[in-house]
Amino acid sequence: MQYAVPFIDLSRHYRSIKSELISTLDSVGESGQYILGENVEAFESAIRHLVGTNYAIAVANGSDALFLTLKALGIGRGDEVITVSNSFVATVWTIVATGATPVLVDVGEDLNINQDHAISAVTPRTKGFMPVHLTGMPASMDSLIRFAKNNDLFVLEDSAQAIGASCEGKMVGSIGTAAGFSLHPLKNLSVMGDGGFITTDLHNLAEKIKLLRNHGLKTRDNCEIWGYNSRLDEIQAAFALINLKQLSSLNNRRLAIANFYSDRLRDYVEVPTVPVGKTSVFHNYIIQTNLRDSLKIFLSENGIETKIHYPIPTHKNPRLVSKLIIPAPLTQTEWLSARILSLPIFPELTDFEVELVADKVLEFFR
Ligand SMILES: *Cc1c(COP(=O)(O)O)cnc(C)c1O
Repeated sequence: MQYAVPFIDLSRHYRSIKSELISTLDSVGESGQYILGENVEAFESAIRHLVGTNYAIAVANGSDALFLTLKALGIGRGDEVITVSNSFVATVWTIVATGATPVLVDVGEDLNINQDHAISAVTPRTKGFMPVHLTGMPASMDSLIRFAKNNDLFVLEDSAQAIGASCEGKMVGSIGTAAGFSLHPLKNLSVMGDGGFITTDLHNLAEKIKLLRNHGLKTRDNCEIWGYNSRLDEIQAAFALINLKQLSSLNNRRLAIANFYSDRLRDYVEVPTVPVGKTSVFHNYIIQTNLRDSLKIFLSENGIETKIHYPIPTHKNPRLVSKLIIPAPLTQTEWLSARILSLPIFPELTDFEVELVADKVLEFFR
């Protein structure tokens, strides 16, 4: 179906940077260096600067960013990692892929991890926490970080949706032990394919991840550990650098659209609120209403495409549930999954389209 307002249209962004992408493609091609070269180094350096960590390591995708960090932290069979069911499935599968067991706890009103529930779920097998900054809203992590420090646990921030967001003046990705980011085309900072990166202040962790992403190789002929192949290509790193220049203006446009929606809709639906001290980068704009299903159908009939992030929480998937530990009912997670609706919020939406979306939501309620 052709929507008057699509949920996302990546070709609009492509067209806005087309000539720069093409000349970059040509210069990487002419350089003859396609793997782990100067563009990857320049990208990692730019990320260190933006996020404010000592190390940034580019990898093949956001899931690998999380998986390789867990591997480098020594996580495996017999270990437990505490995270949320209310996320994209990669958050949880990366834990399963290490052989460890995901322990899923409930979220709060902000859709992010409930710290009290997370701390209550700690057992002698717990190795760390994996909070998700869902929708680009920083998860509250202060108690988790304090608890983790006192108990020798890690806090791995799933920052896939939150590049550029901050909490109490600290950038997301610089708050926990380490963080995994995604450069997937749908994310706020993207490449034309797959990509991801890790940020951390820990030297040894960064060195281990660098080995893991490149076959365990220290030098061309010296293999130190069993590894993987998970590198960001030079061409994608060069594309990421182009998009990085625009990140703050793209994030600001998302924020402006979010503010517009919230002003227009707050009397009719629950709109996202950004607490004092936090900035959100609105990867998604999620409203809540008891009339979610009929609103979604009404908007679709009126040419507006919406999505649900996510309709089936990970623990509700019968094919996945056997590997999970659920220590307490995920009441809020399940309640939310029936009420949430994501409105279009990509930066290239026109003002006309944004107004149309808000008008149609209001028309439904009137
Ligand atoms: C996108 C995403 C990932 C995975 O990133 P990929 O680059 O697609 O592998 C992990 N966690 C969350 C919350 C995401 O949104």
